[in-house]
Amino acid sequence: MAAAIAPPTIDPLRSAVDQWRAAALAAQTLWVRSLGGTAIEAAAHARFAALVRFARARSPLYSNAWAHLPAGPLERTELPVVTKRALMQVFDDWCTDRAVTHDAVARFLEQRGHIGERFLGRYVVWTSSGSTGEPGIFVQDDAAMAAYDALVSAQLASPGFARCNWHDVVAQSGRAALIAADTDHFASIASWRRQASGKPWLDMKCIAVTQPVPDIVRALNAYQPAFVSSYPTLLSLLAEEQHAGRLAIRPAALWSGGEGLSLAARSEIERVFGCPLQNEYGASECLAMAHGCREGWLHVDADWVILEPVDRDGQPSPPGTLSHTVLLTNLANAVQPIIRYDLGDSVRLKAGPCRCGSPLPAIQVEGRSDDVVALRAHDGTLVSIVPLALTTVVEDAAGVHRFQIVQTAPDRLALRLTDADRARAGAAALAALRAYLDGHALTHVAIVLDDGEPRPERRGGKLRQVVAL
Ligand SMILES: [Zn+2]
Repeated sequence: MAAAIAPPTIDPLRSAVDQWRAAALAAQTLWVRSLGGTAIEAAAHARFAALVRFARARSPLYSNAWAHLPAGPLERTELPVVTKRALMQVFDDWCTDRAVTHDAVARFLEQRGHIGERFLGRYVVWTSSGSTGEPGIFVQDDAAMAAYDALVSAQLASPGFARCNWHDVVAQSGRAALIAADTDHFASIASWRRQASGKPWLDMKCIAVTQPVPDIVRALNAYQPAFVSSYPTLLSLLAEEQHAGRLAIRPAALWSGGEGLSLAARSEIERVFGCPLQNEYGASECLAMAHGCREGWLHVDADWVILEPVDRDGQPSPPGTLSHTVLLTNLANAVQPIIRYDLGDSVRLKAGPCRCGSPLPAIQVEGRSDDVVALRAHDGTLVSIVPLALTTVVEDAAGVHRFQIVQTAPDRLALRLTDADRARAGAAALAALRAYLDGHALTHVAIVLDDGEPRPERRGGKLRQVVAL
């Protein structure tokens, strides 16, 4: 169960400053983008130069790593690639504020009642295992949070939302629901709670994704949100519930992230709910990196983010080819600089402009797709469970991050852990999954510990955490 979360504390002055800053950045972002590709590149270039200057002056890690490089402006390609594991090992030297130490942040993160509150009164922090399975702690300054807010605002002002019925939003008092994992300081719940505390005039509710789908449906029917944000797999399940008549909500807009979203799934969700859906590609390292378009591409927020698709040798992957990984530079956050960071995702850069007309570069992301598992209940009906719910249960209970849940029969799941984790955490992970399945009236579904280790996909080598029959 999630720890009880205290009601958000509201600082009116800080809230006003935050809103003003985000609004100014949103206006600036829309203006830069209206000027086209050259202006976007110029904005990125100026932000990159400032970030590198700041990191070199204030982060002992980067200062040492770049000591052999010439003084003055540095070219992006001459900077070494960094990894989460390496950065986490020198966390204190990585950060640019000497008060931000690993021990202090870890103590703050232990308090799950403070999700979304400010660390040291000035930073938002969250934790993640991400797609690589390595635990990480991420600290965001106010400028970064304002930039993420501005990028959301820029999307709401985009042509995709032109058919959004804002009258419905007002009629439903602007109620907004996030359905996500809420058991720890994850990026989505932490940023959501920060939003809720900064905008007391908005009615915002978080619903735990680990609940059975019928409970989520009941909560949404009672709340009647104008805006719903969740994972694509859960929105697809909710579309089925709405279609079947069990769910009856009239959202004016939907938002999704955390997983890939196919054009077909998006069309179906939009058709059933009769409103636009925006899918966002984000990560704990950078909350907003790219956003979906009508043509099925993700457009990189290239004025705020640099994504470099590279091959196994670290050389740029040509447009049209699938990269081995992608290097992320987050131009918004200065307290914990992310510069040429190996994100681990495989992406394909689009050759030529996108038919949607966006001046931003377009990518597709591979391997961010886990399956919805349909398990057979006692009475023969199928109970659908979204992958994020299962993975959250295991991570939370057993503290393991590299694992795989594989459905081997309609009433059977197998858990694969690494050899090291199997002895240490196998029993705890199994017990948590057992309790979770029992809570979903799936008492007869077997859950077994597999002898084997998690198996990455043959193509691309990525690990899918939840694989259905
Ligand atoms: Zn496009």
